[in-house]
Amino acid sequence: MKKLLVIGSLNLDMVVNVDHTPATGETILSDKMNLVPGGKGANQAYAAGRLGADVTMLGAIGSDTYGDIQIESLKKAGVNVSGLIRRKEENTGIALITVNKEGDNSIVVVSGANGTLSCEDIDQYSSLLQEADIILFQLEIPIETVLYAAKKAKALGKTVILDPAPVPKDFPDELYRYVDILKPNETELQMLTKVSDMENRLCEAAGLLKEKGVKNLLVTLGENGVYLDAEETGVCQIPAIKVDAVDTTAAGDSFTAALAVMLARGKTLKEAAAFANHVSAIVVTRKGAQSSIPSLSEVQKFI
Ligand code: ATP
Repeated sequence: MKKLLVIGSLNLDMVVNVDHTPATGETILSDKMNLVPGGKGANQAYAAGRLGADVTMLGAIGSDTYGDIQIESLKKAGVNVSGLIRRKEENTGIALITVNKEGDNSIVVVSGANGTLSCEDIDQYSSLLQEADIILFQLEIPIETVLYAAKKAKALGKTVILDPAPVPKDFPDELYRYVDILKPNETELQMLTKVSDMENRLCEAAGLLKEKGVKNLLVTLGENGVYLDAEETGVCQIPAIKVDAVDTTAAGDSFTAALAVMLARGKTLKEAAAFANHVSAIVVTRKGAQSSIPSLSEVQKFI
């Protein structure tokens, strides 16, 4: 089995249930808060670990108890945490999330230590890049660090997967050159291409990214499954599995992780995407982020 490395963010999600989302200047009370490990990087590493991969996480956390919680959670999922850098002067990243009665959320992320992951850190931990076969990135760490690390990964001959979320204002087109598989959702595809009306213009938007040098594009379409425009598959779509969705949190992160896990096991891109489609279908039937991610045996039973 090939080795995975996730380079990205780790946050502690503070999820507060509220009657309604507070308006500007309004104070409201809540009787419940859940502290749960999150962050796109940590979610992907956690999911890959749960699915049985040989996976290491490279990222930055604070020397606080929130950092301890992250380490424990990743270790439990079987993730190698030797690439977690503990900053003395920074706090672990935090996401303040309110969820109202309708299930709509609003989120403020305080990047904390995630914002300090630097090109020097990538150099210092370059042995992790050398040892890995497939390297996963998202965009909750500084974009210049992602650009630097992806370029380095490509120079080392690694497979680079980018989940371009959240899309920064200054997304550098140069990054496409170092990416083997790009996996946006529809909103991110729209932000990257400035093409609106995605329902009718998906192929056009995908074409624009292919022109910019993207070799393999997978666009997750929520309840409509996943769209592929890749060297191996050509253009095709895999429909979503029919389930009763209750919470889509981490659907995208678990999809990316599951895709990487199956590629690490030697599956084709289409086989890996079909497997990831099943994993995410389970995730949307459960509440929460990491807590909703199934183990490999659960997925095998579901399939
Ligand atoms: P998030 O940001 O909430 O983690 P995302 O917006 O990045 O998710 P989506 O496109 O919503 O990602 O979903 C990712 C994958 O999850 C889909 O491609 C599909 O496989 C699965 N999925 C999402 N919603 C549903 C649904 N309602 N029913 C079945 N599968 C779903």
